[in-house]
Amino acid sequence: MTVAVYDTKGYDRAALAAAANADSIDWRFFDFRLGPDSVHAAAEAQAVCIFVNDSADHTVLEKLAEMDISLLALRCTGFNNVDLDAAKALGITVTRVPVYSPYAVAEHVVALLLGLNRKIYRAYNRVREMNFSLNGLVGFDLFGKTAGIFGTGKIGKITAQILRGFGMQVLAFDPFPQPQWANEFGVRYVDMETLAAQSDVVSLHVPLTPETHYLIRRETLALMKRGVIIINVSRGALIDTTALIEALKSGHVGGVGLDVYEEEEGVFFEDLSGQVLQDDELARLITFPNVLITAHQAFLTEEALSDIARTTVTNLLAFTRGGAYVEGSLLV
Ligand code: NAD
Repeated sequence: MTVAVYDTKGYDRAALAAAANADSIDWRFFDFRLGPDSVHAAAEAQAVCIFVNDSADHTVLEKLAEMDISLLALRCTGFNNVDLDAAKALGITVTRVPVYSPYAVAEHVVALLLGLNRKIYRAYNRVREMNFSLNGLVGFDLFGKTAGIFGTGKIGKITAQILRGFGMQVLAFDPFPQPQWANEFGVRYVDMETLAAQSDVVSLHVPLTPETHYLIRRETLALMKRGVIIINVSRGALIDTTALIEALKSGHVGGVGLDVYEEEEGVFFEDLSGQVLQDDELARLITFPNVLITAHQAFLTEEALSDIARTTVTNLLAFTRGGAYVEGSLLV
C-alpha cells in the first residue's frame, strides 16, 4: 500500500520506518502540510497520514474521495482538524492514535512549570553571560500549593499524580469524574469556578471542541488568583490569547507555559529564524519574561514516537488487510 504522509520531520520518518511491518508500506513522506493546495500530492496513494496542523476540512476530504483515497490515518490523539461528518458522508475511514505515552506530555507540563516557577531559562542565559546574580529569580515552593487540572483523561491524571508527588493539593474539573481514581491519589473534584478561584497553578488537559473553545477567557481569568501560573499543552484555542496578554500585562497572571498556541499552524515545527514573525500576539507573548513557550514538543519522546508509529502502522495495515484497528482508533 502507498501512503502519503504529510507534515513529516526526520524523527517521524525514522520512527515510522522502524515500526514492525513498516517495510510492507510504500511511504511517500512530505514535509509540507495537508490542505487544499497540497492534497493533489496524495494522488496514487491509497491512504493519507496526517498530524496536528494538517487540515482535513470538507474541501480536502472531497478531493481525497475524488482520488479514491478512503483512509485518513492521524498520527495524533486530537482530531479537531478533521471534518468527521464530511468524512463519514464521503465514505472515508478516519483513524487516530488514541493513546501514546501520556507520561511524555504530563512530564512536559512539569518541565514548563518548574522552568517557569524557578526561572531556569533566565538563570541559564544569565550564567552563560557570566551574570551570577540571583535578583529577580525568586520562585515559590510547589509543596502545599494548589494545582487545578481541567480534564482528568489520560494526560490530566498523570499530571495530577506527579503534582501530588510534589505535595501539592490537586483540584480537578471534568464532566466525567473518576471518583475511584481521585480517591486513590487524593485528588478533589470541584466545579470549574472553584478550581479557577483556588488554584495557584492551572493546567489544561481537555480536547478542543466547540464547548472548550476559549475555556480560558477574560471571565475565567478574572476568577483566578493573582499570580496564578497557567500551563497549556493541550490545544491553543483553549485560551483566548488576547485576554491572556491583557492578564499578563496587568500582572494578574504570574506565569504562562505554553506548548500550543491558537495560531501555531505554519509557525510551530518550522525554523523561521531568518524571517520576520508576522503574528503580533505571538511576538508579544515571547517578550514577557514570565512566559515560557515550546513549539508543540510535549509528545516528543522516543517512547511516544514509537507508540505513535506502531499504532499508525497497525491501523494502516488493518485497513488494507482487514485486521483489527488498535482499540479506540476508529473515528468514522
Ligand atoms: P483524554 O480524551 O484521555 O482526556 C480528555 C478529558 O477531558 C476527558 O476526561 C474528558 O471528559 C475531559 N473533558 C472534556 N471536556 C471537558 C471540559 N469542558 N472540562 C473539563 N474536562 C473536559 O485526552 P488526553 O489523552 O488526556 O489528551 C488531552 C489533550 O492533550 C488532547 O485532546 C490533545 O489536544 C492534547 N495533547 C497534546 C499533546 C502535545 O504534544 N502538546 C500531545 C497529546 C495530546
